[in-house]
Amino acid sequence: MDDCLFCKIVAGEIPAEVVHTTERTVAFRDVNPQAPTHVLVVPKDHYADAAALAAGDPETSAELVRTAAAVATAEGHGADYRLVFNTGAGAGQTVFHTHLHVLAGRDLGWPPG
Ligand code: 5GP
Ligand code: ZN
Repeated sequence: MDDCLFCKIVAGEIPAEVVHTTERTVAFRDVNPQAPTHVLVVPKDHYADAAALAAGDPETSAELVRTAAAVATAEGHGADYRLVFNTGAGAGQTVFHTHLHVLAGRDLGWPPG
């Protein structure tokens, strides 16, 4: 996708603080962190949202979660972290390339805002 922000980060065309990469995923820090650890895990291939990824490439969908867990552990929060997929503009999705938010390092309230 030529005009996709996260495709450009995956390609290295836009800088990001990458913390972890796997064969099919890249994890980088959110530019506007909502917790001491706030990392986005994305598939290298473009899918618009979590459901599209799960339908089109279930193995990468699972790898996204494994990568998120590895990031939480590496940051010292392996037991307590939150994973979020905002799906659809009405639910707060602003970048339409699947990304799994990894949030940790503070008390995380429920229900979420
Ligand atoms: P969404 O709202 O779609 O669930 O999450 C998109 C996330 O991408 C937001 O948390 C936002 O702060 C982050 N973001 C937007 N632009 C950039 C960017 O250029 N670099 C990085 N690292 N994060 C970004
Ligand atoms: Zn993309």
